[in-house]
Amino acid sequence: RAKDEGGGEHCVFEPELHAMAEERRQLETSLRHALEREEFKINLQPVVDANSEAVVSFEALLRWHSPEHGFVSPAKFIPLAEDTGLVVPIGAWVLEEACRQAATWPVDAKVAVNVSAEQLMESDFAETVVRALDLSKLPPRRLEVEVTESVFVRDGHIAKATLEEILALGCSIALDDFGTGYSSLGYLRELPFSTIKVDRSFVQGASQGSRESLAIINAVVAMASSLEMSTTAEGVETPAEAKMIRDLGCTKIQGYYYGRPMPVDEARALLANPRSLAKRDAA
Ligand code: C2E
Ligand code: MG
Ligand code: MG
Ligand code: MG
Repeated sequence: RAKDEGGGEHCVFEPELHAMAEERRQLETSLRHALEREEFKINLQPVVDANSEAVVSFEALLRWHSPEHGFVSPAKFIPLAEDTGLVVPIGAWVLEEACRQAATWPVDAKVAVNVSAEQLMESDFAETVVRALDLSKLPPRRLEVEVTESVFVRDGHIAKATLEEILALGCSIALDDFGTGYSSLGYLRELPFSTIKVDRSFVQGASQGSRESLAIINAVVAMASSLEMSTTAEGVETPAEAKMIRDLGCTKIQGYYYGRPMPVDEARALLANPRSLAKRDAA
């Protein structure tokens, strides 16, 4: 029996709801032990300069292989980690590992680390960043923190204060997934972001002929440029998309066309031999 009348095509049956809650509970139990059991690793995805196609940075993306659940997508476990507070210790580990890796690279490229609102609410988050930099000896200018606009929505003043501490250390801050979710141009006034990351949905839209997506990318590029911020297009998968993005004037490009998120050793090798940059890895 459907739980409610009028639920339309989205009505969920009770046993199904029950199974979903149960799955979530099991996932949470596993997630609680994942750090101590060393089930995490980071992959690194290259970001290239739109014109020279040289690798300028890597984004650290968390990967979880659970013995019970297999590979679990971050889209699934990050929200769970956020809801349970586990993202605080897990995120600290990502920061340390990302800095440790970047410190071993043969060139001065930046490493970008995703940070959730829950991490920024912790009063000692800046200390966590300092510790990661100290342990690795990575110069602060080589660390970029990626946040989404959502961090400014609830308790935005706390997030802003924490991010100002991070800026004072000499790190940079990127605004991720721009244009999705809680978009408000007002957030661009909050901090001097180094980079605005244009969400993949706009790249996809524009490449499928959406004039709206194209116009939005154009406007973001122009606005970023007058704010002295750079732009990174996310999710570029084909040569045609890379050309379109370059013609639109985006500063940097990230996506399967130039390289998928890769194991840390491959990332280091790529920097040592840039000619091995993918372009063949396109989907
Ligand atoms: P994000 O920060 O926007 O990361 C970009 C996502 O797009 C990554 O997904 C990446 O694998 C994917 N991607 C990159 N290029 C392409 C492309 O050309 N095509 C397609 N289809 N996808 C592409 P991933 O690794 O599954 O991560 C998803 C999200 O999970 C991230 O989105 C980020 O919000 C979150 N996340 C990942 N690692 C961490 C972490 O260490 N901490 C936190 N707080 N969040 C993380
Ligand atoms: Mg990101
Ligand atoms: Mg993104
Ligand atoms: Mg995204």
